[in-house]
Amino acid sequence: MATAALKEDWQANKTLHECNRYMLENQVNCDVTFILGENETKKSAHRCILSSRSSVFFTMFCGPMAENGEEIRVPDIEAEIFQVLLEYLYFDEIKIEAEIVLPLLYASKKYSIHTLAKKCLQFLEQGKNIENICTILEQAHLFDENELHSKCLRYIFENGNEVMQTPGFTDLCKACVERVVEADELQAEERIILDSVLKWSEVQCNRKSIEVNEENKRKVLGKILHLVRFPLLGNNYFTETVSDSDILNDTEKVELFKFFYKKNANTSFINRKRYVHSHVTRLSLKARHPADGSSIQTCIRFPTIHDDGSWYCGGEPDAVAFTCSQKIWIHGALIYGSYLGESRYDVTCAVYDNNEKEVGSIQTDVKTSEHQQTYAVLLEEPVEVVQGRKYGILVRITSTQGNDTYQGKNGMSSVMCGTTKFTFYRSKLSRNGTDTKVGQIPGLLFTLD
Ligand SMILES: [Zn+2]
Repeated sequence: MATAALKEDWQANKTLHECNRYMLENQVNCDVTFILGENETKKSAHRCILSSRSSVFFTMFCGPMAENGEEIRVPDIEAEIFQVLLEYLYFDEIKIEAEIVLPLLYASKKYSIHTLAKKCLQFLEQGKNIENICTILEQAHLFDENELHSKCLRYIFENGNEVMQTPGFTDLCKACVERVVEADELQAEERIILDSVLKWSEVQCNRKSIEVNEENKRKVLGKILHLVRFPLLGNNYFTETVSDSDILNDTEKVELFKFFYKKNANTSFINRKRYVHSHVTRLSLKARHPADGSSIQTCIRFPTIHDDGSWYCGGEPDAVAFTCSQKIWIHGALIYGSYLGESRYDVTCAVYDNNEKEVGSIQTDVKTSEHQQTYAVLLEEPVEVVQGRKYGILVRITSTQGNDTYQGKNGMSSVMCGTTKFTFYRSKLSRNGTDTKVGQIPGLLFTLD
């Protein structure tokens, strides 16, 4: 399919890539034509180059089932995307943009072009933000990109309030909404969670072309409705807002009224507080490391908060000992905040080496509220922690108003954070009950050496 307007000796002074580009751009000697996308746009190429770069093209052109026809229909890839793919195959050049990254990922997987798929995934991971994270999550789900899917979920958990109010959230599939709403780690207010899943259900009703009413919303929500932690909404909000709608049936409403207004009443709704380890932590870390607050990592040793038990804070030391599988820097500890209402605590945090000598500390005060469970307390200076050596971390938390804090339970004696393994031990310095299983100090803040 040589074009008439070919210059003589166009190969002169060109590199391999430049010659390939010329062949593609001018469609010189092409021997296969693709009919692309909905518009059936035609684009020709060279079997030889395609099969040298992709095992799928190789099988298509050279295998026992090789297609001999000159035209190949590709209805699921649009011409612009195929062009980008060809440019990568012909001369290794790629400019990924947000608008094309997902279909390009699809195309590179379809033709087993692993290096290009990897570049698309990197682009997605680095370009995620509040507005696009749900779209990326859903694409990761669609293409079975489990690692990217988990990373997106983590991002959503950390930015729950904002992400759940974006239009992207209403586009999620049911399974993805379930994954978000069921998570203990989701850092969002329960009323925002309820609002968002109701909005999601309205959009689903519209998509299914069924009337938007409470009955149909319940139907499309299914199990998701019962993942909303109604008891956490508080009695006022429930009475004034939720109880007037029919999203819950009468039996469920009566149960919740009993729960809110009758002492010791039980509920079948999930009543577990979500693990809110929120902005303040990240903000205070950013203030300390403006360039890269995210390089500070958190090692969480309590997977769950004690639902119905508070922790006494009279200034006696809570402590735990730990070792680490590699050299790190300890920047401080997470502490739990007030169990009820707002409170202010005087906090001392200190790190001790294996000779019980203090190697770092801070005295500060921390204001807390019941809506956020953990707070970062940063040492004056980070402390170097030598691999395999035992250290102790201690906090003295004094509430002037006598307010208790949350406490953790089911503590893990070893925790992996990336490649770093933390092992926790009982500390002799602990005099207020904290040990490896229960108590204060839900986490350590650290950076790698
Ligand atoms: Zn999904």
